[in-house]
Amino acid sequence: MADTTDTTRTGGQAASADASSRNAVSADEARDVAEGARETEWERPSFVRDLFLGKFDISRIHPHPEGSAAEAERAGPFLDALRAFLRDYDADEVDRTGHIRETDVQHLRDIGAFGIKIPKDYGGLGLSIRSYVEALALISAKCGSLSALVSASQSIGVPQPLSLVGTDEQKRRFFPRIAKGAITAFALTEPDVGSDPAKMITTATPTEDGSAWILNGEKLWCTNGTRAELMVVMARTPDLIVNGKSRRQITAFVVEVDSSGVEVLQHCRFMGLKALENGWMKFTNVRVPADNLLWGEGKGLKLALMTLNTGRLTIPASVAGSAKAMLRWVRDWASERVQWGQPVGYHDAVAQKIARMAANTLALDSVAMQTTGLYESGADIRLEAAIGKLWNTETHWHMVDDALQIRGGRGYETADSLRERGEPPIPIERVMRDARINLIFEGSSEIMRLFIAREAVDKHFALAFPIVSPKSTMGERISAAFKAAPFYLTWYPGTWLPSLATFGEFGRLARHLRFVARTAKRLGRSLFHAMVRFGPGLEKRQMVLFRAVDIGAELYAMGATCTRAHMLATKHGQSGAIELADAFCLESRARIAELFRTLYGPNDTRMHRLAVDVLEGKHAWLERGIVDDGVAAVARAGNAKPRGEIVAPG
Ligand SMILES: Cc1cc2nc3c(=O)[nH]c(=O)nc-3n(C[C@H](O)[C@H](O)[C@H](O)COP(=O)(O)OP(=O)(O)OC[C@H]3O[C@@H](n4cnc5c(N)ncnc54)[C@H](O)[C@@H]3O)c2cc1C
Repeated sequence: MADTTDTTRTGGQAASADASSRNAVSADEARDVAEGARETEWERPSFVRDLFLGKFDISRIHPHPEGSAAEAERAGPFLDALRAFLRDYDADEVDRTGHIRETDVQHLRDIGAFGIKIPKDYGGLGLSIRSYVEALALISAKCGSLSALVSASQSIGVPQPLSLVGTDEQKRRFFPRIAKGAITAFALTEPDVGSDPAKMITTATPTEDGSAWILNGEKLWCTNGTRAELMVVMARTPDLIVNGKSRRQITAFVVEVDSSGVEVLQHCRFMGLKALENGWMKFTNVRVPADNLLWGEGKGLKLALMTLNTGRLTIPASVAGSAKAMLRWVRDWASERVQWGQPVGYHDAVAQKIARMAANTLALDSVAMQTTGLYESGADIRLEAAIGKLWNTETHWHMVDDALQIRGGRGYETADSLRERGEPPIPIERVMRDARINLIFEGSSEIMRLFIAREAVDKHFALAFPIVSPKSTMGERISAAFKAAPFYLTWYPGTWLPSLATFGEFGRLARHLRFVARTAKRLGRSLFHAMVRFGPGLEKRQMVLFRAVDIGAELYAMGATCTRAHMLATKHGQSGAIELADAFCLESRARIAELFRTLYGPNDTRMHRLAVDVLEGKHAWLERGIVDDGVAAVARAGNAKPRGEIVAPG
């Protein structure tokens, strides 16, 4: 590894450089940092990665994973205690007051809800990831704020990186505290550092005697930051000089929140998740013992990405839980509310939405549980988890919108207001507010698509990119062509050959699996064609890549839904699952057809140019007729750009 070749640390220089120069990161540098942090080694390859190369290997997702009876028995008492707690828990009060009662948090501590996956030896419940996501699905169906508290603490907070890379000594020190209920947090984002962590400004500088690090900087939107005892903080440590070139280093630390110099500058408030314990944190000369460094210097960004990869298993299951609750509310309401002579659910426009909601609920559960099962089998699940995060949260968001519409005016009304009138306090208004953030945090939808696209084209990137890159010399091109030829001479014709698998055991769903097999080949081919057509420019054609990613996501969802439905029907007598899976696949196929139809984006270039014109103020005349209240101009204190010329007086 590079760390062992001609490397030196640049003392405290980088750490003490002024913020603006540290912040000047070119796009190439940002990409290099992100590339360096990619995980590239795994034991079992990814199912989805192969799908993007045209290979649909159903044996990797079939039979659909089911938890073991032994684990279900072990998790039973905890899940029963959690259900009992949630039955009496008042999520509307939490939304109204913006606070989760300490007695409720203590109750959760007492039943072990903050140490679900922590091994028993360290005082945790020692349950599996499957039991963990089942617990989060239960909580999420009831209260988004509570779900965020419990999930951020364990999915991305200290126990997750600790279990991935912590030393025995670190585990002995921190796990028992967390298992007893010490709340934890994950601090990566900064005011100027969102999706692109290469620009990180927070620094950690080693003390002269090497016994500690001195942390300085700010972290924004740190979930649980206002209630946590421990947090994992990513900070920039002195650059490493590798073969004469300076390389940025990001390192992860466990920080005790009661250390001197840790401040909460603001308790941030949002459109939803009203009781989120979310803080803008400041670190001023915080002394962090050297023993609290996680994994190794310079490995912090990779650790953050690894943490998010596995942490992402929680959100897909959480939104599946929420979808189930919505389906129940909508079913009751739409079968009872009579307008124009019949229950509203029987009017075709509403019926279509209800059918889609039911089919999607099965699909959300299937994607969440499939991905969890793949993780438990030891497979590389980075792509599956990213699809789970992306596809499940977007599908769930559309479901919330449909559910709200079906409830009519009552969908828009708060639960408290409904209760005041003596009506069932169905909280779809709150669910909508709580759900929106799922498309942004822990990797926004755009960043998930970029990440999936990067991995999906990795093979072509490695083999074909040097051939088409204008940066390659003729010699490099010829050598790359020789290297790539053996793969493409067999792979490419193979994508045109029909798939021989019939998937007969799936009965009515077999045709959909044949479609997945066929379409995976078409997708693999299309990505290759895009690479040839756009060359290195493909990177800039985000929408082309995003449509390909969306096709892959739909195929994964179809595969997971068919195998789950088959499992539910054959092993649990749930024959209705076949009906739902069939409906889901038909809808998914229609979406895929549309994505292929517009894959190369006939209007993309024109729309991009139009956006540039808008950004440069060419169409500012459109904004005439509104009051200029100066809000846009003061978006960020100290960074105000007066735009009076854009918002002309009405
Ligand atoms: C309620 C809440 C809780 C949070 N909790 C935590 C937490 O616990 N810990 C933590 O570290 N962070 C947390 N965050 C931060 C969260 O992860 C970030 O908001 C997220 O990573 C996006 O960063 P940003 O908001 O700065 O958006 P930006 O990075 O500024 O992006 C703005 C928009 O541009 C898009 N975009 C950015 N780059 C690209 C690109 N290359 N191509 C295409 N589109 C792009 C983004 O998707 C987004 O739509 C939280 C945020 C919120 C609101």
